Amino acid sequence: MFDAVIVGGGPAGLQAALMLGRACRRVLVCDTGEPRNAPARHAHGFLTRDGVPPRELLRLARADLAAYPDVELRTVAVTGAVARDGGFTVLLDGGEAVATRGIIVATGVRDIVPEHFRALWGTGVFHCPFCHGWELRGQPLAVYGQGAYATHMVYVLKAWTDDVVLVADGPLTLDAAAREKLSRNGIAVHEGAVAALEGDDDGLRRIVFADGTSIARRGLLFHAPSVPRSDLPAQLGAAFGPDGLPVVDRSYQTTVPRLYVAGDLAAQPPSLPVAVASGALAGAGLSNALALGDAG
Ligand SMILES: Cc1cc2nc3c(=O)[nH]c(=O)nc-3n(C[C@H](O)[C@H](O)[C@H](O)COP(=O)(O)OP(=O)(O)OC[C@H]3O[C@@H](n4cnc5c(N)ncnc54)[C@H](O)[C@@H]3O)c2cc1C
Repeated sequence: MFDAVIVGGGPAGLQAALMLGRACRRVLVCDTGEPRNAPARHAHGFLTRDGVPPRELLRLARADLAAYPDVELRTVAVTGAVARDGGFTVLLDGGEAVATRGIIVATGVRDIVPEHFRALWGTGVFHCPFCHGWELRGQPLAVYGQGAYATHMVYVLKAWTDDVVLVADGPLTLDAAAREKLSRNGIAVHEGAVAALEGDDDGLRRIVFADGTSIARRGLLFHAPSVPRSDLPAQLGAAFGPDGLPVVDRSYQTTVPRLYVAGDLAAQPPSLPVAVASGALAGAGLSNALALGDAG
């Protein structure tokens, strides 16, 4: 019987494992080795590790965990879980079932990136200026779309460069006041349909439109829709809020006792520091809940 099975060994899951390991808990971390930021060469904005390659950050985290012999790491997918005898039975790919007193789901999300953006996703096409903006500072940049996110980010991106355009990918549907604000801030709008992105190992070079015209740009800020990579919280009966995220308390416990979530699956805004913070809260929260439950 494990005290905790952690599903997902990205930054959130490994931080939760560190807290539980340091609380003398018996922990199994199951991970399939596909962190969300793998397409990026470097991860930024995480204290003491600014610029670290994404998989190197995880290697360092796993090395820290080696100091805690009751934390076991396995490369395996979790395929399901059921509540049983006051705890849970977790099903692993291959058929093994393991019993645990608590679960932390930290499986992250999957980004839905259009085919013609994929080659440059994580380099020339970026989702977060705090992650990638410094490397593109002072360069000609574009924001994709015309929804609330895009029309907010065109102004936010001005912290990094004066040269920002809005690539609306279709006729602009904004009202007169919004158009006037764009114009007043010197933000040109390109309404042509985007046909292709041209780039190289060094990132984006040009955005090509369906009518054959193009603009030179070094980065395209794109808010990719994303979906959770696991439905375990729903399988186990956790409640979800109107935002689509699991309802949690301050330690990221869901509405199901001893079922916790952490990382991009649950914590906003999605980023390494926030994922790690939520993992720390979930790990400590689960250990405390087990101790208080044992005390009766
Ligand atoms: C291109 C890109 C670049 C980014 N750059 C930065 C940056 O520079 N700085 C920053 O702060 N943030 C950055 N982010 C955001 C950052 O990657 C995420 O916030 C962070 O990875 C979330 O950590 P996580 O542990 O929740 O999920 P993940 O890192 O996605 O880890 C989840 C893990 O769970 C595993 N898993 C999934 N399903 C299962 C299953 N059923 N069984 C077992 N294991 C499973 C996956 O294989 C994966 O290893 C970037 C994101 C993208 C897309």
